[in-house]
Amino acid sequence: MSSRFSKLASLYSRLEDTPSYNSRRKKLSEFFSSRSPPDVKVAAYLTLGSIGASYEDTELGIAEKMAVRAVADAYGSGEKKVKKLLEKRGDLGDAAALLNEKKRSTLTISDVRSKLIKIKKASGEDSQKKKMELLSSLLQDAPSNESRFIVRIALGNLRIGVGEQMLLDAFAEAFAGGSSHKSEVEDGYNKCTDIGLLGESLAKHGLSSAKRFSITLGRPVRAMLAQRVDKVSDILEKIQSDELAVEEKYDGERVQVHKDGNRIILFSRHLNDITSQFPDIAEALKKSIKRKKAVLDGEIVGYRKGDFLSFQKLMQRRRKYDVSEYSEKVPAAVFLFDMIYLNGNSLLKKPYPSRRKALEKSVNESGMVHIAKRNVSSDFEKIREFFQKSVDKGLEGIIVKSTAKDSVYQPGNRGWLWIKWKKEYSEGMRETFDLAVVGSYHGRGSRAGHFGALLCAAFNPKKDRFETFTKVGTGFTDESFSSLQKLLKKHRARKKPESVVVENDMEPDVYYEPGLVIEVFGAEITRSPSHTAFRKKGKGLALRFPRFQRVRRDKGPEDATTIMEIKRIKDGK
Ligand code: AMP
Repeated sequence: MSSRFSKLASLYSRLEDTPSYNSRRKKLSEFFSSRSPPDVKVAAYLTLGSIGASYEDTELGIAEKMAVRAVADAYGSGEKKVKKLLEKRGDLGDAAALLNEKKRSTLTISDVRSKLIKIKKASGEDSQKKKMELLSSLLQDAPSNESRFIVRIALGNLRIGVGEQMLLDAFAEAFAGGSSHKSEVEDGYNKCTDIGLLGESLAKHGLSSAKRFSITLGRPVRAMLAQRVDKVSDILEKIQSDELAVEEKYDGERVQVHKDGNRIILFSRHLNDITSQFPDIAEALKKSIKRKKAVLDGEIVGYRKGDFLSFQKLMQRRRKYDVSEYSEKVPAAVFLFDMIYLNGNSLLKKPYPSRRKALEKSVNESGMVHIAKRNVSSDFEKIREFFQKSVDKGLEGIIVKSTAKDSVYQPGNRGWLWIKWKKEYSEGMRETFDLAVVGSYHGRGSRAGHFGALLCAAFNPKKDRFETFTKVGTGFTDESFSSLQKLLKKHRARKKPESVVVENDMEPDVYYEPGLVIEVFGAEITRSPSHTAFRKKGKGLALRFPRFQRVRRDKGPEDATTIMEIKRIKDGK
């Protein structure tokens, strides 16, 4: 029997009132440790504001206007009144809770998710009306505090400040013998990206079950990432391998290709299903992959008759509508560089050379499907040459890969088995950082009425929070400026989000929920009392002379550069 949803709603209320990370984690872990495994699964999804795994399409597709109507309908008040309350409170969930006089709770955790799934599934011509009625009926069954969170989840905006990292930390405490085991739990999540399934399995079998997860078709693993070095010669020191493989680095969108018979699914780096954006690539892959069941790793790039198009150009294909028109306007190709699953067997633990061999044997190249160009050698000069050739071709750099026995595929890991080396580094310029936008300051003069500068933060995965690192006000073109204005609107927050750490003197005029990631170029890292990244003795790390480079729509906030990476770059390690 599933627990009452009221227990979960009251946990959410308490979390809203608890600022300290450790106390929040404790509350979460206490809640999870006293639930049945199936409830752990469902509560994990709901706590992240969703009804399923992150790689599934979980949007309910209910417009705010319809949700306003559902609240009005459920609690017998006029739509005008609901709208007014919404404007005043800035949150439809809070408005619902105020209007709702129901006292007795009857819903269970599993009821709420099943009913939300029904709303998602409502389709057809009058789907909005059906969704509205289903939401209204669910709200009629829910007492005040429960309706607050049901509305927020339905609108995809739970805002209780719990991210994946905090949840994994809570799982470690509840089921795996304590927070010190978080990295093992996280490792389980890197392979089993269905956080509900992971939680359920930990609740049932304990920590050992996290180790048993592997890759399966249809469920993406987190992408393996590359480290960076300060000097190109450091690569030799870092990769302990007699021979090095050096591959071209393609600047586009990371893609994990799952082939199951005739079905192809493309997952983005952020684990979203992006198949519908690239039907041409999916079709070409179906023909090129010779195996029945396979998972491949690669990069989709804008590619016209042998020329690479810019990353910005490729991003024009991130769209729901006019997909086929844009497949012609922005032709693309995929460059595959790894193979991690073949006909029922995981290749994750195989070394790079044998995965590469499997890749070469499994794919017929075509105009749209390529295998990453590479060179394998023990001669360091060859790496330099390959790098120069790649840059001359218009690529952004190279990825050097270990060929040693231990060169396994490490999902979600930024280790020393892959090292990137980019054009910017070799030109003596400093580094670029992918940062989450957490605030903005009003502009003056020609930017009056718009933002003047953006407050940007790095990610602290240990505490699942965002720590400010720089304030960027230059580098925008007219085009990028207006597109940022639009994108930021979606993330606007009424007050400082729990997960953002800001010094008083850096308080922005507007806060944003961490969501949008931008690439920022900087000249120097210093210590400053105004920033909070990796703060020690009242000073954080800060980026000087920052310049906006581009929006990274392919990255989510948790993919932002971490405070540990920044520390390492500062220390030149
Ligand atoms: P960055 O996004 O700067 O951390 O660079 C790492 C990214 O480079 C990976 O996540 C891939 O999306 C991309 N990439 C491009 N070419 C390759 C390659 N040959 N091997 C591995 N990653 C690559």
